[in-house]
Amino acid sequence: MQPISIVIHGGAGTILKSDMTVELENAYLSGLNESIQQSFSVLEKGGTAIDAIRLALTILEDNILFNAGRGSVFTKKGVQEMDAAIMNGATLSAGSVAGVRNVMNPIELAYEVMEHSNHVFLSGKGANDFAIKQGIKLMPDEYFFSKFRYDQWKEIRDSDSYSLDHTHQDLAELMKDKKFGTVGAVACDQNGNIAAATSTGGMTNKKYGRIGDSPIIGAGTYANNKTCAISCTGHGEPFIRSVAAYDVSALMEYKGLSLEAAMNEVVHDKLPKLDGVGGMIGIDHQGNMAAVFNSAGMYRAMKNSNGIQKFGIYKEDI
Ligand code: ASP
Repeated sequence: MQPISIVIHGGAGTILKSDMTVELENAYLSGLNESIQQSFSVLEKGGTAIDAIRLALTILEDNILFNAGRGSVFTKKGVQEMDAAIMNGATLSAGSVAGVRNVMNPIELAYEVMEHSNHVFLSGKGANDFAIKQGIKLMPDEYFFSKFRYDQWKEIRDSDSYSLDHTHQDLAELMKDKKFGTVGAVACDQNGNIAAATSTGGMTNKKYGRIGDSPIIGAGTYANNKTCAISCTGHGEPFIRSVAAYDVSALMEYKGLSLEAAMNEVVHDKLPKLDGVGGMIGIDHQGNMAAVFNSAGMYRAMKNSNGIQKFGIYKEDI
């Protein structure tokens, strides 16, 4: 039987041990653990890569610590607008949503777009109307509220320094606030099919309907059985401009690079040239797994049927 494997992330950024308490560290690790154990058992029972990553993301979206679903960051107007995408590497079918509100699990809406619409990408009110039509669960604003994200937003809501046209210095400041908490998953099932999914509240204080890389197929999320499944996290604009997730696939397909070599080239060589801070997780159809980032940290976990199980937050964690 083909080895099964799954990798998840809970966002990248300036995550420093010195800023952490043991309690918070444990809370993040236990959130990652719950998500990876449950989604891995889907694969063990013969479930598809798509089933596994949907469950992985639903669990992380429901966890208030991560910037996706419940606990999403606040926009300039003080609301949550969420983005999500899912892609099936076996069929190259994909579904994405951007700027949706009150959707309990945006990844479920993205899945619904992939499976039950003739489209790939829905946004704003239209996407919300589609959610209602498909019977996707909605929740009131209070459900998404977290004091931590609210305080983060309150500090900067009257300034423009966290908007997207920030200078490099502003970016450093913004990274310091650890605002990246996007979640993602990639998996390889027992049939060798791979899939990728990403879900996010985007960036604190975003405005003008800003959308990051996460829901953009090829930028923040991509899967193709021929090459790899990738989910990115970090400052979205450079990831969009470098078509980061697809670039890993292209480097594998056209240049013959391995998964990890291709991810290293994009994360450590190409993205930094555009001031792109963040990282990505990846898997190939043989079930090889990788997590690569150029920020101080990235919440991550990986597990496969050959006995590998790893959790990490900081650079020095393997
Ligand atoms: N990439 C996401 C965005 O730019 C943010 C993140 O990864 O936390 O919207």
